[in-house]
Amino acid sequence: MCENKNDIIKEFRIYSLATDPIYIGTGGYTIGRVDNTIVREPTTKLPKIPGSSLAGTWRYYVTLEIHKYFTNSDYRIKRENRKDKKDIFVNKAPKWVNNFVDNKYVGIKCAGKDDDSNINFDEAGDRGTGHCGHCIVCKGFGFSKKDKSWQGMIYFGDLNILLFPVFTREGTKWVTTEKSLIEADLLKNKKGDNEVYVVKEETEEGADDFLNLGWLYLSYKKEKKCISLDKVKIDGFRLEVKDIVIVPEKLFSHIVNSNLEVRTSVSIDPITGAAKEGALFTSESIPRGTVLYGKIRIFDKSVFAGISSELSSLPSEKYLESALRDSKHFFETLGIGGMTTRGFGRIKLELTPCEGDDSTQFEDKGEKNDAE
Ligand SMILES: [Zn+2]
Repeated sequence: MCENKNDIIKEFRIYSLATDPIYIGTGGYTIGRVDNTIVREPTTKLPKIPGSSLAGTWRYYVTLEIHKYFTNSDYRIKRENRKDKKDIFVNKAPKWVNNFVDNKYVGIKCAGKDDDSNINFDEAGDRGTGHCGHCIVCKGFGFSKKDKSWQGMIYFGDLNILLFPVFTREGTKWVTTEKSLIEADLLKNKKGDNEVYVVKEETEEGADDFLNLGWLYLSYKKEKKCISLDKVKIDGFRLEVKDIVIVPEKLFSHIVNSNLEVRTSVSIDPITGAAKEGALFTSESIPRGTVLYGKIRIFDKSVFAGISSELSSLPSEKYLESALRDSKHFFETLGIGGMTTRGFGRIKLELTPCEGDDSTQFEDKGEKNDAE
């Protein structure tokens, strides 16, 4: 499951916890009673956080993080300051900010859409507008100028729903599938001693009991599996194996889609302060408490720097990794997606290096558990 087959591409697993409902809108589709619908995986109809949203938001947060270390409060370093590099960043700036030489061109405009893309690359660094094309943000996330485009070095995958909270008569349970647990390295295909609820595709003889997952009333069996939830212990969030319900693949999408958070809102008439006639609308979102999982990869193109003049001065994988780590705290305050000023969007992310041998580490631990 880990594709770290060489040294120049480093893969990371992302485990994340929604601390607010997450709304990433599709813009304009109405499905059934919902006016403002969210992005879904076309093949499974499961809501997700697309890699493009993650990339765009993280680009902004890396830029914000760098800005914190500017010696002045300007949003772009003044041209005259760049010659004397020591005036650019404060002393305590981390290496990925201070030691990457081309960060002397960075500015807040390196985030977001390039508003000055029709100029040549050589001019870009000296202007106060648009993507500078030089800094760790532009090199890491990519840029496009009139005469030169750069793909970037960080590859973002989608964040998919791994564990989805549903209220049942036995309290809140987190619904998942065997496939996603294996993919996220939480379940091993071997004997274990963690007892979980398993819902089978057909009601079979000898079911232990029934459980209501939203409007679905399903029979389950308690089975012993080899599950470790250490990786989804995100901050104070402690999910217990006994609260997990494994359901068949084909039911998962139904359970998720019928248990999304749906809010009905109304526009307020500014004159009367009352609800505006005909301005009722509904929006859906991924509920708080959902655990999502995805992967990102960093392609360390800095090893090629010098071979071609085009690729000179590139940040190392280590610097890019630090940039992502040091800036991810913004997801916990500013969030991702839409309606972040109305109680939506906050999410906690954990970045775990995808080691080639991490599955064996898990196995060792499992055996230790068995022995205990
Ligand atoms: Zn830049």
